[in-house]
Amino acid sequence: MPKALITGITGQDGAYLSEFLLGKGYEVVGLLRRSASSDVIGERLRWIGVIDHVRLVDGDLMDLSSLIRIMASEKPDEIYNLAAQSFVATSWQQPILTGQVTGMGAVNMLEATRIACPQARFYQASSSEMFGRIQAARQSETTPFYPRSPYAAAKLYAHWMTINYRESFGMHASSGILFNHESPLRGIEFVTRRITDGVARIKMGRATHLRLGNMSAQRDWGHARDYVRAMWLMLQQNVADDYVIATGETTSVKDFCDMAFTAAGLHAADHVQVDQALLRPAEVDILHGDPTKAMTKLGWKPQTTLSGMVGEMLEADLARLASNAAR
Ligand code: NDP
Ligand code: GDP
Repeated sequence: MPKALITGITGQDGAYLSEFLLGKGYEVVGLLRRSASSDVIGERLRWIGVIDHVRLVDGDLMDLSSLIRIMASEKPDEIYNLAAQSFVATSWQQPILTGQVTGMGAVNMLEATRIACPQARFYQASSSEMFGRIQAARQSETTPFYPRSPYAAAKLYAHWMTINYRESFGMHASSGILFNHESPLRGIEFVTRRITDGVARIKMGRATHLRLGNMSAQRDWGHARDYVRAMWLMLQQNVADDYVIATGETTSVKDFCDMAFTAAGLHAADHVQVDQALLRPAEVDILHGDPTKAMTKLGWKPQTTLSGMVGEMLEADLARLASNAAR
């Protein structure tokens, strides 16, 4: 039975990747950082139905000793480094922490792997945010980067360190440059979940308005379930490499919003208010990925449509509110 270690297992992608790997017969071990809220920390793993099938081990991306100890005792075949301070807006409020966790934390993982488990295959969660102020209309593996936030700069450091460990030490280390991917398990602070949760609240009479920031920003949104499959495919290749994972379609926040309100039988114009406080110090106006390499070399393609995903997220938020499980 192959063994996988996932950092960030309590996050959105960690839950979907656990489900996927368990389905493939893997033993799944997850890194869990200590929290005073241990009763809610496994909420996503519970929601997706895998909490009793994964093993959680104590550690933190900023504590190299914990990572070395885990690598030495677990000896995983595959390592998925998904842990990060992952919210762009927070990265301006906590730039140093973001650098430490999202940037240096990845290097801690690479070091622990090199020291204690060098044969393992390593996946780094890189991000389309690294393209920032885009240098080409469609972004591929060869498009130059232009990070526009402390988060993006930290991810870019981790990305290049992953490439350097591959080239310097011969490690099987790959980066997935993933464009935005969402699901019912997306953090509530990200715009898609903010919208579907807000629409569900309005539909159920618990709110009248939804406040949003820049409505004209455009993103290439896919479903997390499809994107974790790409992570696994990367680690099954003989040679490690970097891949853009995207749908190849881009949509504005306004259009996503209209889709969600329409799916609920409501009109966005009656409920949406633009809140200047939600604008960012610097914006990534548009991201539009070119996943040709992943489609050709990995045989990957997304299976969920945007409208299907909006419907799934809205249904889940309506169900959460109906059961009072949501705040
Ligand atoms: P989430 O924010 O949902 O999950 C982040 C995870 O990192 C959580 O499990 C969190 O644990 C963990 N974490 C944070 N700090 C530490 C730490 N110091 N030590 C150990 N664990 C820590 O992210 P997603 O699942 O959405 O994304 C997964 C990865 O992919 C992230 O690296 C993200 O930046 C990247 N990415 C995501 C994209 C997306 O659209 N979703 C696009 C491109 C890249 P806790 O639950 O304790 O907070
Ligand atoms: P990001 O691409 O990783 O920053 O993902 P987000 O979901 O946080 O943001 C996507 C885009 O939506 C960005 O351009 C934001 O400026 C824009 N946006 C507009 N309103 C909001 C909002 O209320 N919350 C968030 N998080 N983003 C918003």
